[in-house]
Amino acid sequence: MKELEARIQADGRVLGEDILKVDSFLNHQIDPQLMQAMGNEFARLFAGQGITKVITVEASGIAPAVMAGLALNVPVVFARKSKSRILSDDAYTADVYSYTKQTSNQIRIDKRFLSATDHVLLIDDFLANGQALLGLKALADAAGATIVGAGIVIEKSFQPGRQAATEAGLSNIQSLARIAAFENGQVVFAAEEK
Ligand code: 5GP
Repeated sequence: MKELEARIQADGRVLGEDILKVDSFLNHQIDPQLMQAMGNEFARLFAGQGITKVITVEASGIAPAVMAGLALNVPVVFARKSKSRILSDDAYTADVYSYTKQTSNQIRIDKRFLSATDHVLLIDDFLANGQALLGLKALADAAGATIVGAGIVIEKSFQPGRQAATEAGLSNIQSLARIAAFENGQVVFAAEEK
C-alpha cells in the first residue's frame, strides 16, 4: 500500500538491527485517516470470503482491526494479554512469546465471542517472528473457527514470521507493507507482488 510505505519512509525510525518504530502514526499516536484507509484495504483484500469476525491482540492490533471490522461490517474481538497462567473454562487461551519484549504472555478470548460457526480474519500490526499470529491461530483453532486469512500492517520479510505461519498451516497472509531489509538505518521495501 503506497500511502503506508510513504508514511513509513517519512516517519518510521529504524532502531538497532531489526526494529521499526512507528509510534507517531500507528501504535502510540494514531493517524485515524491512514488507519481507516488500511481498514478499507483489508476489506478489499478479503472481500467476498464470508468473514464473520475480525480478531486481534491488544494493544497495537486493535486500531487496524477495528477499521477492518468497520469496513467489513463485522464485530472485532481483541485477545487480552495476561501474565496469569490460571486456566479458565470460559476462555480460549494460548501462550505467546515476544522476542521484542523477551517475555511470555498468555492471550485469551472469552468463549462467548468466538465459536465454530465463525469465519475469522486475523489482524496484527507487525509480522516479525510470527508468535503473535500463531497465538491468534491457536485461539481460533481451539474454538473450531474457520480462519479465512491474516491481514498484517507491516511485515518484516527478513524475519521468519511468514514462514512459521505458513508452516503452521496459515494461508492467505496479506501484508500492507513488506520490508525486505533495513540498510544503513533506511527501510527497503520488498517488490510488490501485485
Ligand atoms: P511476532 O510475534 O511476529 O514476533 O511479533 C509480533 C508483535 O511484536 C507485534 O504485534 C508487535 O507488537 C511487536 N513487534 C515486532 N516487531 C516490531 C517492530 O519492528 N516494531 C514494533 N513497533 N513492534 C514490533
